[in-house]
Amino acid sequence: MTQQAHTVDVVVLGAGPVGENVADRARAAGLTVAIVERELIGGECSYWACVPSKALLRPVLALDDARRVAGAREALSSPIDAAAVFGRRNHYVGDWDDSGQVDWLSAIGVTLVRGHGRLDGPKRVVVTSSEGEVTLTARHAVVVCTGTRAALPDLPGMAEARPWTNREATEAISVPKRLAVVGAGGVGVEMATAWQGLGSAVTLLVRGSGLLPRMEPFVGEYVARGLADAGVDVRTGVSVARLARPDASGPVRLELTDGSALDVDEILFATGRTPLTDDIGLQTVGLRPGDWLEVDDTCRVRAVEDGWLYACGDANHRALLTHEGKYQARIAGDAIGARAAGTPLDTAPWGKHAATADHHAVPQVFFTDPEAAAVGLSAAEAEQAGHRIQVVDVEIGEAVMGAKLHADGYRGRARMVVDTDSELLLGVTFVGPGVADLLHSATVAVAGQVPISRLWHAVPCFPTISEVWLRLLEAYRDSGSA
Ligand SMILES: Cc1cc2nc3c(=O)[nH]c(=O)nc-3n(C[C@H](O)[C@H](O)[C@H](O)COP(=O)(O)OP(=O)(O)OC[C@H]3O[C@@H](n4cnc5c(N)ncnc54)[C@H](O)[C@@H]3O)c2cc1C
Repeated sequence: MTQQAHTVDVVVLGAGPVGENVADRARAAGLTVAIVERELIGGECSYWACVPSKALLRPVLALDDARRVAGAREALSSPIDAAAVFGRRNHYVGDWDDSGQVDWLSAIGVTLVRGHGRLDGPKRVVVTSSEGEVTLTARHAVVVCTGTRAALPDLPGMAEARPWTNREATEAISVPKRLAVVGAGGVGVEMATAWQGLGSAVTLLVRGSGLLPRMEPFVGEYVARGLADAGVDVRTGVSVARLARPDASGPVRLELTDGSALDVDEILFATGRTPLTDDIGLQTVGLRPGDWLEVDDTCRVRAVEDGWLYACGDANHRALLTHEGKYQARIAGDAIGARAAGTPLDTAPWGKHAATADHHAVPQVFFTDPEAAAVGLSAAEAEQAGHRIQVVDVEIGEAVMGAKLHADGYRGRARMVVDTDSELLLGVTFVGPGVADLLHSATVAVAGQVPISRLWHAVPCFPTISEVWLRLLEAYRDSGSA
């Protein structure tokens, strides 16, 4: 067992996508950086979340797309090849080997310390591993990027039932005959889509009345219909009361809250996330273990004096999304660099050192069939925030030639929420096949605060699904608001 001690400018705790980006930005600002990781460089996102889930979903959605196009549909003569899908997934997660990421860290001059890191008083992190202990002291900042793990409900029979979390659901190598998915947030609906497409008979158990409850209500309706059409048994207003797997290699018996029973081969709980801050030494700096870390717009933890502790990504609970965490990472890395150099910061809204988009323009896509994509505020959120708004909806399949050509019988809807005082977009939502890549146009319009009058000059190509923008502007004009 060895004991070592190093002093660097910045210590980053957790080498998921967010930690990697903070490290890169801080070293680009001329600082020395050490990054601590106890599992794989690349984090949950690269190995058990975003990347493998989309690798599983893409073949399923490609087949759905082909089925909607006469001529292509007839060419689909055999069922999905699950083994090939798993092989493709394994390729994109690098067979759970992070050596490529390790090489990258080394190429940019960031020191990697493997092991479990814990704060040990201000500006100090102690890393323990089977090799020994490394004490890292930061001259300027420590950045917590430890992410989250699955939050499981405390139900009778849980341990014995060995439920799936996102980990098992994204790394599985065989298709369960019957799968129950509990939870209708992003992870639940995406995994229900993927596993039904891969051949499981999926039952989706939804505690509330709708799917994707954080989006405009119509999105959940479209996605529920898509899942039902694919064969998923979508049950709303019901959850699991208790579960049991009496035979360790046998099925799981679920007792549901409506009194019914359900036998499945596996059960996935997609019931939220909990921060990985319970064992990182928060108590040594006056914070409570297990809490989310509330930060200012430069990502500095508000409750810590002297401003040396930052938190980015899932750990700060602003938006549990890789791209938003990486955005925070870029801002925090630049802010740490500027503070270390003693140069002034630009923390005004939309300034270089302010994560303003976290409040106004968080984009999110769910790769279901149909896809769901939204940025900014929903109509209800906008009203709650006190805006005077106009809501315009367009049925994409009826109004847009590009959509009709994309899929026979295209089903989808777009919604634009406009602030009628400023004539700026507060939020945009799309649901429909192929809308995922349309979202960035909306993000540019919302984050860029592009006035409606100027959007008329952003001409979408014919015949693309983007022409939905013209239909939205026309609907807004015809509503008498412009
Ligand atoms: C199934 C699923 C699908 C998802 N799909 C998407 C998607 O398509 N797009 C999207 O934007 N988001 C998606 N997300 C969310 C996304 O995965 C997270 O927002 C993202 O991983 C957050 O990145 P992070 O770096 O903050 O944390 P993580 O990716 O969780 O990385 C944190 C790292 O810190 C390490 N760590 C933790 N504690 C310690 C410690 N004490 N010492 C050392 N190391 C430590 C962990 O081992 C881990 O490597 C998905 C989530 C799930 C569950």
